[in-house]
Amino acid sequence: MSVTVSHYTCLRMRAVDVIRHKRDGGVLAEGDIRAFVAGVTDGSWQEGQIAALLMAIVLKGMTLDEATILTDAMVRSGETLKWSKLAATPVDKHSTGGVGDKTSLVLAPLAAACGAVVPMMSGRGLGHTGGTLDKLEAIPGFRTRLSADEMRHVLAETGCVLVGQTDEIAPADRRLYALRDVTATVESIPLICASILSKKIAEGIGALVLDVKVGRGAFMKTRQDARTLAEWLTGIAERHGVRTEALLTSMNVPLGRAVGNANEVIEAVETLKGRGPKDLEDLSVRLAARMLVLCGIARDGDDAERRVRWAIASGAGVEKFRAIIQAQGGDPAVVDDYRRLPVAQHREPWTAPRAGFVTKLDAELIGRAAMALGAGRDRADATIDHAVGIEIEAPLGAEVQAGDAVLTLVCDDPARLAAARAVLAEAIELSERAAPSSPRLLETIDERRLRLQARAPRQMPGR
Ligand code: URA
Repeated sequence: MSVTVSHYTCLRMRAVDVIRHKRDGGVLAEGDIRAFVAGVTDGSWQEGQIAALLMAIVLKGMTLDEATILTDAMVRSGETLKWSKLAATPVDKHSTGGVGDKTSLVLAPLAAACGAVVPMMSGRGLGHTGGTLDKLEAIPGFRTRLSADEMRHVLAETGCVLVGQTDEIAPADRRLYALRDVTATVESIPLICASILSKKIAEGIGALVLDVKVGRGAFMKTRQDARTLAEWLTGIAERHGVRTEALLTSMNVPLGRAVGNANEVIEAVETLKGRGPKDLEDLSVRLAARMLVLCGIARDGDDAERRVRWAIASGAGVEKFRAIIQAQGGDPAVVDDYRRLPVAQHREPWTAPRAGFVTKLDAELIGRAAMALGAGRDRADATIDHAVGIEIEAPLGAEVQAGDAVLTLVCDDPARLAAARAVLAEAIELSERAAPSSPRLLETIDERRLRLQARAPRQMPGR
């Protein structure tokens, strides 16, 4: 009994010391960080202590070394997937979240059709941003929860598996993320990096392409914040032996024309058939090509892009998607017959009040309007409606006349339609002149560039 008391006293003292040290701006020792993550995982740290240390990290920051150890400790809080006898280095892509971002549904089959091995674990949408799992679950029967054996089987059969995070992967992150959400401690670059990368590294991948979104509809609103996040993610992942490259891409305007779930599946399939919107096709091809380079299948970017474009033109990519859907219990016929997907019957235009050029389609507000229709969730446990969404009829730069449809809202519920219309009031701008078009891909951050910047100070505020 006395041993138990002194054990807990010791743990409590240690937690308080660790919190105080970070509160005062100190650098945590490896043992402190590992004790923290162990305390989060086994419940021996109190919720208040965890929240206090999270807030100290937000305010005082972490060094790259501390964030690397935190990531490693979070990986080790659960299982790491092991893939045996693979034909190539397993590779994944992670996006920091956007509106209309269905690139995973396009690039995963394309990369797999080119010989890549893609064990992709994705998340659900929250707030105005969509999630890959929600889109996949719009496909009747598609299972996103598979056992480790089932994952191995699908991966061996198709070269790709598209699933949600299992309970065994990085359990410390689940507890930390839930607490960060309610204690205003999400906005910290070291905490974001450890959270994202612990889940990715535990997938057992050897290469990773990051799509760090920047702009109105993104988590990172400024290019400098996005660049810093990309540099930290790349640096920490490389230190874990994962070949990593980050692309900074613009998220001021939704990607492609469809925002929702079932309608995004249709747009992804159209893109695999070579009939998708150019911005979506170009970004998906670029990300898939970088995956092929990092996992060693392609010689260089040009070789990789040729291979990916072949997968579209030959139909190999869409056939691969059909095979993945089938292997994961979904209805593969959706690829040919979109009526098998749930789509709401009522379509209502959002019309231009006057003639002009479309100069703003605010990604965040359009994402919020889609959420108001029921396509997204405001709480992690909310349910969504796969059948509703928004379609962009007049993309950025298009010229419209008064009364032309700029958007179409797809939803059967009048109350939800009214709520979405209210959100859209400020989302669209029409001007007399077209604004110059701006590129999606802003810059690339790779290890070579990181080395050039290795002298930059690494202790930084949380944000
Ligand atoms: N996504 C995550 O998985 N974790 C974060 O901390 C932020 C975004």
